[in-house]
Amino acid sequence: MTDIAQDMPWLGRAWQTVQSRVAEDRLPHALILAGERGVGKRAWAEAVGGLLLCEKPLNRESGQPVACGSCKQCELLAAASHPDIRVYAPEKSRMVKVDQVRALSSFAVASPQVAHHKVAIIDRADQLNINAANALLKTLEEPLPDVTLILLQESGRPVLPTIRSRCQTLTVPVPANNEANQWLASRVRELPEEAQPSAEVLAKALMLAGNAPRLALDYATGDFIELRDTALERFKGFMKSKIPVGEAAKAFKAMGLEDTLWLFETWAADLARQIAGGNARDTDAADMLGFLARTTPAWQAHELLDMVKDSRAAGVYNASPELEASRLLIAWQKLMPVKRPAA
Ligand SMILES: [Zn+2]
Repeated sequence: MTDIAQDMPWLGRAWQTVQSRVAEDRLPHALILAGERGVGKRAWAEAVGGLLLCEKPLNRESGQPVACGSCKQCELLAAASHPDIRVYAPEKSRMVKVDQVRALSSFAVASPQVAHHKVAIIDRADQLNINAANALLKTLEEPLPDVTLILLQESGRPVLPTIRSRCQTLTVPVPANNEANQWLASRVRELPEEAQPSAEVLAKALMLAGNAPRLALDYATGDFIELRDTALERFKGFMKSKIPVGEAAKAFKAMGLEDTLWLFETWAADLARQIAGGNARDTDAADMLGFLARTTPAWQAHELLDMVKDSRAAGVYNASPELEASRLLIAWQKLMPVKRPAA
């Protein structure tokens, strides 16, 4: 049985908090785990679920309980077929819907099927639409002794205060680059040799993911890096008026809305960083952003950040990535210094 704190040491502090509370039998019925995208929140929640469902948790010398790994519950969990743990995540609409929260509520009030406890995980509690949030509130207001709710929240994406106030919030940090790199390299070594990305790709994946290891693994093994490279190149082309906005926006279509907004958000954050005298995280975009930073006031960078946040908050989740990219690209191009005609 692998210990989540050994596998992903940066999750250790939040994990130990839960272990202590379980040992003292005073774990709150609802937890929020907040952390950057791709830092391992889901793995953490599943580990907590494993500990809560295990029939005979072992006590380590430290007195901290861990799942035994051999009881019926642990075996069912390992086979990913445990009926008493459920995960509710955004579907195509990118929001957690009211139907899903109703399903969660029914799950919460029913008796456990094979374990003595139930665990419901909402992956992206920051993406509840208003009806879903209200439905969840009812479940939170009437806590049941045999169910634990774990809400996962991405940093910087607010959870409604009415929900937050009924949960205990724990936060996980992003690991340092060498720690993230070590974890990523160990994961990649498990792949067939021909599928193993190069060290160069791993470094780039970590750079783009801001050292969030799970996200970097997705980047390193998927097509995101290629799509993003094309998108950045078109973005630069459009900024220099070399290509029309439609052509630039098209490059964002294949990566989807979430990643499109994410990219524009990181570029705007990098621009703000450079204006403040810091360094861009996305080193490939640093040239262009550095150029803009010389003439752009900080408030304009923050306005670009707000545009991304507004897009998310407005629930424009049916909007096309191409359309959103066009809107953002046009706003960005306004930052380009105007060339004065030669006298
Ligand atoms: Zn067990």
